Amino acid sequence: MIRSSSPQNPDDLVLEVPTTSPDEVEKAVQRARSAQRGWGRGPAAARATALAGAAEAVAGASAELADLMVREVGKPLGEAQGEVARAVAILRYYAQQVFDPVGAVHEPSVAGLLYTRRRPLGVAGLITPWNFPLAIPLWKAAPALAFGNAVVIKPAPQATAVAVRLAELLATSIPEDLFAVVPGEAETGRALVAGADVVSFTGSTAVGRSVVAAATEGGVPVQAEMGGQNPAIVLPDADVASTAAQIAAAAMGFAGQKCTATKRVIVVGDPAAFRDALVAAVEAMVVGDPADAATTVGPVIEERARDRVADSAAAGVAAGGRLLTGGARLDRPGWFVGAAVLEEVPLDHPLSCEEVFGPIVTLHPAATLQEAVELANGVEQGLVAAVYTRDLAAALAVSDRLEAGLVKVNAPTTGVDFYLPFGGEKSSSVGLREQGKAAQDFYTSVHTVTLAPGAGELPFGGLGA
Ligand code: NAD
Repeated sequence: MIRSSSPQNPDDLVLEVPTTSPDEVEKAVQRARSAQRGWGRGPAAARATALAGAAEAVAGASAELADLMVREVGKPLGEAQGEVARAVAILRYYAQQVFDPVGAVHEPSVAGLLYTRRRPLGVAGLITPWNFPLAIPLWKAAPALAFGNAVVIKPAPQATAVAVRLAELLATSIPEDLFAVVPGEAETGRALVAGADVVSFTGSTAVGRSVVAAATEGGVPVQAEMGGQNPAIVLPDADVASTAAQIAAAAMGFAGQKCTATKRVIVVGDPAAFRDALVAAVEAMVVGDPADAATTVGPVIEERARDRVADSAAAGVAAGGRLLTGGARLDRPGWFVGAAVLEEVPLDHPLSCEEVFGPIVTLHPAATLQEAVELANGVEQGLVAAVYTRDLAAALAVSDRLEAGLVKVNAPTTGVDFYLPFGGEKSSSVGLREQGKAAQDFYTSVHTVTLAPGAGELPFGGLGA
């Protein structure tokens, strides 16, 4: 049984549904495969209409979906509303992408026509995390459907209610069996990887690697977006107050539970003034019930996540670090922990180099810009990095050297433009990029078609006439 409960009020059971067995997953994949044949070969206009209808269905349920997200994963209301708006934008965008070119015509080496044409792969098996319960399923499913595939999605157990409601809304315009949700945990996910024709995963690095290994073993194309340990570099010329406020929000907003959250702050030069401003900005954030519009830091998703943040802060101190604020379990119902800032944590300590998915950040000084870049690049992950400066030459030089799939200058590590490619470097990603035009490459394969003139007498006197 999958039981999803509210992080701010663990007694509030949001949804209880049976776990999907491997047999049931296989049946869902078979039904999706039958439905996909007509969908993939059918008119692009039909896919556009269905996706546009899905966008309107989600838009029509905006308030309900935002409230459900707040309740089920503890996302602060403003961020939940933003995510619903983004989900609608993603569906509208891909409703138009169905009309994008799907190939190119080439000069034939002898005669006739030579062209490429992208075709759907079949059933896309999508495995998603709980932290963007609407946007991540849709930024995978919308392009998969737009380019002619069917979708079977295994949501994170902690976000099952949002996924189930999304399926109900999409069923009003997407034909039957083309978008199926299979609630479950690891066993359900493994069965989906075994049955699908293409696999897209977002989640933790350890699970992502096992999904990539299984899909590759089965000869199935796979992409995996995994954890980050994202740095923000602050140069001496950056505006202290606004930079501190932006980094505090990027590190602690939604209790730090974004793959793009800032996890390390690297300050070039004397860190004292920036450190004080950062601590003040973190302490000014509003901790509380995520349903309150003013709240910016809600609870973390579950008890073990809260304990991991508190235990990591304590371990950082035990290793010689200094706790500047937060780090303790809060004495209130729900999985709340104080947003933590630490400094002087050794660089090779897990807190400095492994993702703790919660409101915790480490501060590191760097004597020079070069050292700052070396620190930023000195971890296995490479999802996103930010640099704060008013010096254009420094911004360009640093952007060029950061080992990250996304680089932000004077902008938070968080926040993604859905119409551009998204993905990381190093251990953060495997496979092709997601979103924007990049998604077409992943959810299709290229067929090269040679169309030679038929045998017999050729019109206009034959070749070369
Ligand atoms: P998770 O890895 O625990 O779970 C992700 C999904 O995988 C869930 O649906 C889960 O049920 C499923 N799963 C677990 N074991 C499996 C297995 N053996 N085979 C197949 N599926 C399995 O991650 P989470 O806790 O849901 O999400 C948090 C993590 O996601 C963080 O590490 C965060 O950085 C990462 N994340 C990355 C991105 C990105 O785009 N890079 C975006 C959001 C979240």
